[in-house]
Amino acid sequence: MSEEIGTTDALCPECLKTIHAKKIVENDDVYIVKTCPEHGTWKVKIWSGAEHYKYLYEFAAVPKTPTKRAVGDVRDCPHDCGLCNRHLQHSCVNVVEVTNHCNLNCPVCFATANGCGYDFHPDIETIRGMFQTVVDFVDSPRCVQISGGEPTIRDDLPEIVKMAKDMGIEHIEVNTNGVRIGNDIEYLRKLREAGVDDFYFQFDGTDDAIYMKTRGRPMFDLKQQAIKNVAEVGGIGITLVVTVVPGVNLDHVGEIIRFAARNTPTVKGVHFQPIFHVGRYPVDPTDDNRVNLPQLAHEIEVQTKGMLKADNFMPTSCSNVHCDMKSLSVVLPDYSLFPLTTMALGPPAKTDDIANKTRKEVSEFWRFIEVSMDGEDETRDKDDHTWNTFIKRAKTHYLTVSAMAFQDVWTGETERWERCCIHVVTLDRKLIPFCLFNTTARDGTTLYRKKTFCQ
Ligand code: SF4
Ligand code: SF4
Ligand code: SF4
Ligand SMILES: [Zn+2]
Repeated sequence: MSEEIGTTDALCPECLKTIHAKKIVENDDVYIVKTCPEHGTWKVKIWSGAEHYKYLYEFAAVPKTPTKRAVGDVRDCPHDCGLCNRHLQHSCVNVVEVTNHCNLNCPVCFATANGCGYDFHPDIETIRGMFQTVVDFVDSPRCVQISGGEPTIRDDLPEIVKMAKDMGIEHIEVNTNGVRIGNDIEYLRKLREAGVDDFYFQFDGTDDAIYMKTRGRPMFDLKQQAIKNVAEVGGIGITLVVTVVPGVNLDHVGEIIRFAARNTPTVKGVHFQPIFHVGRYPVDPTDDNRVNLPQLAHEIEVQTKGMLKADNFMPTSCSNVHCDMKSLSVVLPDYSLFPLTTMALGPPAKTDDIANKTRKEVSEFWRFIEVSMDGEDETRDKDDHTWNTFIKRAKTHYLTVSAMAFQDVWTGETERWERCCIHVVTLDRKLIPFCLFNTTARDGTTLYRKKTFCQ
C-alpha cells in the first residue's frame, strides 16, 4: 500500500528538464517518484521512517531570505539559479573554487578534478571578483569555503586567504585532502598567518583499506601527520569530512567519531556526507548503494554503543529540515561523549530565531560553547569542582557530529533546493545551490558546473 505525502518538482536524469514529482510512503520508507514524458519513471528511496520524516517539518524555521539577489522572477526552478526571487534562504556558506587541479585522483571526486574536459585555475584577480560577489550579495557575517580541486596546490593560497579577509569576509574555511599540510608545515604556518579559521578536512576512516577504495592510495598516516601539524601550529580548527559509502566505510562511522574525540580540541567536528551520485562515480545508483540520514544516525547509535543516539541529532533548521542533522557533545576526559542536543527538546518555540542563530554559529563556531554554557549556575555550590571542571572542559573539548545529505539528479527536489543555504560562487556573479552546481545527468552532462567554469 502506498500513501502520497507531498508533491514537488525534480529533474529528469536523462534530459535534465524539470518534471513533476510525488513523495510517497511504502513500508515506512519515503520515496520520490517522478515521470518524464520522454524518458520514463524513476522511484528513489529518500528516507527511512515516514513518521520521523513528517515530524521534522515542525522544525522548519521561518527562513531568512536573501536581501540581494542576482536574478529576478524565476521561470523554471532549478534552471534559473542565481539566487532568484523565489529562493527562500540566504547564504550561510559560500563556496569559492580556486582550481580544479588536484594532487590526488579520487574515484569518488564530485568536483571531477583533473582530466574532466576543462581546466580551471583562475588568476588572483578572477578570484578577487568571486570574493567581491560574496561581499556584494551576502550580508555580514560572511563565511567562505575555499574549495577545488585541491586549494593547497596553489602556492599563492595564503595571499588569496589574506585578500578575502581584507575584503571583509570574516570566516575562511579551506577544503583540503591534507596532502600538502601533512608534508609542509611552513606552508601551513603561512595559511594560519593569512587567517585561515578552519580546515574542512577530507577523512574517510582510520584504515588504509578504505583509502585504497575512496582515494586510490593509503593515506591514514598522512592524515594523522596533518592533524599533528595543525595542532602544532595552533589557531586553526579541523572538521573531519567523511564521504560515507555503503560497503566501504559505513561500518566505520563509530570508529571515526572515537578518533575525532581523541583528537579534540584540534578536531572540533565530524561531518558525514553520504555519497551522492555525480562526477565520475562509475556505478548507476540503487537504493542499496545510498545511505539516508536516518540510516546513518542509526549506524552511529549502534557503532558508538549508544554513546551518541539517533535522537541526539536535530535539523539545523537553516536549510530544509531533510537536508541535514547535527549534534553537539562535550568530550569527557576518557574521550566518551556527553551529548547536549536531543530531539526530546521538541521543535523550537521561536522558529524565526533559528536561521540567525545557525548563521552566527557558522562564523563564531568556536565560541558557541562559551555562549551557550557561560555564566554562573546559581543553584550550584561555588566549590562544586565536578560542575566547574565540566564547564571548563566544555569550552575547549567539544565535538559536533553532523551530516548533510547532498542531492543528485535522482534524489533532488525543489522543496529542498529552494531553501539551500550553501552556495557556489560563479564567475558571472551568481550564487548556485551546492547540490545543483554539482548535479549531472546520467550521461555526465552538468547542470551548472561546466557552464560556469568553461566560458
Ligand atoms: S534553487 Fe533557488 S535560486 Fe535556484 S531557481 Fe530554484 S529558487 Fe531560484
Ligand atoms: S582530493 Fe578532492 S578534489 Fe582531489 S580528486 Fe579527491 S575528491 Fe577530488
Ligand atoms: S547543499 Fe544540498 S543538501 Fe545542502 S542545504 Fe543545499 S540543497 Fe540541502
Ligand atoms: Zn527527460
